[in-house]
Amino acid sequence: MIALVNDIGGRFVGFLMGVTCRCALCGDVLSTDVLDRGICSACASRMAAEMRWTCRICGVPVRPGQGYCPACTTKAYWFDAIKAAGIYHGSLKEAVIRMKYRGERNLRTPLGKLLINVALKLPPCDVIVPVPIDPARKGLRGFDQARDLAEELSRGLGLDLNDALERRKSNISMTGLSRRDRWEEVKDAIKLGSSSRARRLAGSRVLLVDDVVTTGATANACSRVLKKAGVVEVYVAALARTAI
Ligand SMILES: [Zn+2]
Ligand SMILES: [Zn+2]
Repeated sequence: MIALVNDIGGRFVGFLMGVTCRCALCGDVLSTDVLDRGICSACASRMAAEMRWTCRICGVPVRPGQGYCPACTTKAYWFDAIKAAGIYHGSLKEAVIRMKYRGERNLRTPLGKLLINVALKLPPCDVIVPVPIDPARKGLRGFDQARDLAEELSRGLGLDLNDALERRKSNISMTGLSRRDRWEEVKDAIKLGSSSRARRLAGSRVLLVDDVVTTGATANACSRVLKKAGVVEVYVAALARTAI
């Protein structure tokens, strides 16, 4: 009965408010109890189940009970840990593509809330830094999705946002590159920004924000620059993680 009332209530408020009351991922009408979240209970449970067991360092799904993925038992990274809201597939992947390539910038709000939940599972940080995109890409798209998400996080968590990182100009798209090529290509692609704020991160713990983590190469390159600037810990919060 309660579920029925919630459903009718959700549809009524959904009718009044339009698309904002549909799940940002699957498009189902939201029940009133999750209107604020913007993601329906079915999608939230599916993602939680997918991310129930993940590598404590790189965040990829692992077998139940396992703490680390095979790669992280031998490899060292500059970041301390990566966590993502879900696997990069299905409706989460669709939502990221809609936000990133189809201009649905309003998705920043519900997807930003997903990221807040991710950040709350990581150790506390002092400042938020977005993974920078190539300025040419931002020009084409008109906005920077990682920065949009970082702004939502900054508001939600009450933490400072610092655009400390910049990307060097590159004509190569990471899409389509092999795993090894990505690590090589991105290694020197990130630099510390020239502003004085960018250079005042020494001693802090940074929450690095990106939309999708694929190999971890970009997160690692960003973390390297931050650690060399004196940052003590870097935790990466992402919307989605590709499974290996
Ligand atoms: Zn849904
Ligand atoms: Zn791992």
